[in-house]
Amino acid sequence: MKIYNTLTKRKEEFVPLEEGKVKMYVCGPTVYNFIHIGNARPMIVFDTVRRYFEYKGYEVNYVSNFTDVDDKIIKKAIEEGVAAEEISSRYIAECKKDMEGMNIKPATKHPLATDEICGMVDMIQTLIDKGYAYEKNGTVYYRTRKFEGYGKLSHKNLDDLQGGGRTLLVTGEDEKEDSLDFVLWKPKKEGEPAWKSPWSEGRPGWHIECSEMSKKYLGEQIDIHAGGEDLIFPHHENEIAQSEAANGKEFAKYWMHNAFLNIDNRKMSKSLGNFFTVREIGEKYDLQVLRFFMLSAHYRSPLNFSAELMESSKNGLDRIRKAAGNLKFLMESARTDEMTDGEKKKIAGTDVFAADFERAMDDDFNTADAIAAVFELVKYINTTADGNSSKEYLAGLEKRLVSLTDVLGIIVEKEEEILDADIEALIEERQQARKAKEFARADQIRDELLKKGIILEDTREGVKWRRA
Ligand code: AMP
Ligand code: ZN
Repeated sequence: MKIYNTLTKRKEEFVPLEEGKVKMYVCGPTVYNFIHIGNARPMIVFDTVRRYFEYKGYEVNYVSNFTDVDDKIIKKAIEEGVAAEEISSRYIAECKKDMEGMNIKPATKHPLATDEICGMVDMIQTLIDKGYAYEKNGTVYYRTRKFEGYGKLSHKNLDDLQGGGRTLLVTGEDEKEDSLDFVLWKPKKEGEPAWKSPWSEGRPGWHIECSEMSKKYLGEQIDIHAGGEDLIFPHHENEIAQSEAANGKEFAKYWMHNAFLNIDNRKMSKSLGNFFTVREIGEKYDLQVLRFFMLSAHYRSPLNFSAELMESSKNGLDRIRKAAGNLKFLMESARTDEMTDGEKKKIAGTDVFAADFERAMDDDFNTADAIAAVFELVKYINTTADGNSSKEYLAGLEKRLVSLTDVLGIIVEKEEEILDADIEALIEERQQARKAKEFARADQIRDELLKKGIILEDTREGVKWRRA
């Protein structure tokens, strides 16, 4: 299996640190709002990477954090007049709902930065003890030039960085020994969440979070560290500097980065305001369509979001689902005797599609080509399965199809359509729950309906609903 490693800029054969196991850390979102579909790209891509490792028989320890302490969270909390923790816990819950909708497996562990402050303080102390960090007026900085390999991931040269760094120096940081030094710990400002430390009451910098959480849950050395390509510099470069200086070992062997999801060829981002949330897309489409769309391009190629591409993903997904639905239908009345010799040969004939699929995935997770192999299998199913096929043959085809679509996180069985009468009954139950102030139940009903593609709108005239 070959993986493109940002560190070496080459595709390399994957060799695990420990036979049969993969230790993988994926930088998670900062939780101050609903996630947008740009944030969903790394989630879908690396969930697929994980699923493929599992398909190949690896045991994957997958850790992905939530950054729940950050300026943006604090800003939002101040705007709403609530505690920062209320904002982060709200959007973690919403993010988990979106992940479920996109069929993203829960990580082995989803650590929260705020639960891991003690470990971060210890790591910062180690860096100070080893001479890689220093304290000035309650702030702790990393002594960037002291780490020899600095720049090795982003392939940047220290002197070029220095040039840019000077202009980036912000007020209050002029106490740094060098403009390249970055913050490990900062003292709190009035009203901010803060934790005790030997240097000041304050909070950790963003980069140290991932170094510590990766170490705590996966160990000092990991196989794969991943995230969007905007994280290469400075976030991942700084993580390497911290982890390798503190632990005295190479941190991650393979660094994987997805390219951006764009809109009108510009990166989709909160700050540009050119984003769609996963929630919004979920109102228009089955989120499986979004997943299929994301995987239709190679993860290292930029992907432009458009209604046309979503439409063609929807059609592609429908084609696969129709074939699966037809197999189910044929199986209901198929003969139950054994496969004929001809059928045995035909089943063996599907090996080639699995081989093509694996060849594509083995080549740095080329999901676009892997999907092409699935379409070839669908064609084969449509031309070889019919009313004369044995149940065993049909089941064999189905098993083959599902084993491949599972790797992509695509569910081929269409959910049962919910009937109007059932919807009305659930809406009535929700109204009763609200009257009884059982808001949790009311929300649960709304979410259940949303999952089935039913959108509720509370209007003055009562509750209205529509199918997405
Ligand atoms: P953030 O919450 O901004 O830290 O982002 C969480 C994850 O989403 C990181 O891995 C980012 O690199 C990734 N990300 C953010 N915007 C995009 C985008 N437009 N396309 C692809 N990945 C993105
Ligand atoms: Zn990170």
